[in-house]
Amino acid sequence: MTDLRSLTPEELRAALQDMGQPSFRADQIFDWLHRKKVRTLDEMTNLPKALREKLKEDFTLSTLTLHTRQISRDGTRKYLFLLPDRQAVESVLMHYDYGSTVCVSSQVGCRMGCHFCASTIGGLSRDLLPGEMLEQIYRIEEDAGLTVNHLVVMGTGEPLDNLDNLIRFLRLLTHPAGKNLSERNITVSTCGLVPQIARLAEEHLGITLALSLHAPSDELRRTMMPIANRYTIAETLAACDAYFAATGRRMSYEYSLVRGVNDQPEHAQALSALLKGKNCHVNLIPVNPVAERSYEASQEASVARFQKILEKNGINATIRKKMGADIDGACGQLRRRLME
Ligand code: SAH
Repeated sequence: MTDLRSLTPEELRAALQDMGQPSFRADQIFDWLHRKKVRTLDEMTNLPKALREKLKEDFTLSTLTLHTRQISRDGTRKYLFLLPDRQAVESVLMHYDYGSTVCVSSQVGCRMGCHFCASTIGGLSRDLLPGEMLEQIYRIEEDAGLTVNHLVVMGTGEPLDNLDNLIRFLRLLTHPAGKNLSERNITVSTCGLVPQIARLAEEHLGITLALSLHAPSDELRRTMMPIANRYTIAETLAACDAYFAATGRRMSYEYSLVRGVNDQPEHAQALSALLKGKNCHVNLIPVNPVAERSYEASQEASVARFQKILEKNGINATIRKKMGADIDGACGQLRRRLME
């Protein structure tokens, strides 16, 4: 059965037409789902009861249930939501000067196997539906009583491993009849699925793409990320250049600093050589230690030194501000605790 919350207004209209319903019913339903953000069909009080019953027979409705909420002293909120099939996903709400940002998960688990990441430890359970990605934002807005105006797809999962659902999610989220989030306020992070980067570029969405690079050589990257065995850095950066050319959106490169592994001056020099002349931004992230993994975060001085070298080479780099440190535990750890 199809998830009603994952349909575009056009698809809803076609579905309602097949049921012999006028098209304004589709617009009413879209409004209930994406503006009023209802959980159930019975809340759609301006629909005839018979139509609601028919919709219940023909469609599912993705709705998330709040399981756990942790609130940090800096206001960051970490959420664990239950899905209809009792699986769980994590999402985070952060407050910045420019507004409220939500970090959503794109899959239940992940099959990319990055060695420093907690989200991939149990493998991939399933993809998230577009409606289930939207619901993370809708339920957070409801719980926190605010409007979310920035989105990062940096939670559990590899968004480009669930590309069709991701694109549909982004189209729905930016739809003028729905939440109408600006494309410019959206960042999608990938470990570097090269063919999918090319496909995403073809969509001509005005969103920022962030590439998880984490190492300046293929040899080193292969010790951290299995995806590096499939695609070389050269191929991956070429796909990123093509993304920039197609969308005009400046690339972001993420570099998680692991003590003694990829945080030395020679790594910063090699990274500078790779990115020289590109219109891009580097995000430095001291690695978040994960109980099951042996990596340690870089020392503050090494992080600062790394940034300075990049900047001296004309590469724009910022150190990611740590949010919610007191409720931390690396990303993916709330869900892991539930699974145990
Ligand atoms: N699968 C996507 C998005 C999810 S992770 C990707 O790989 O980009 C978002 C970012 O956090 C990625 O750059 C990822 O490599 C990084 N990350 C994962 N675990 C981390 C950890 N323990 N410490 C620091 N960064 C981490």
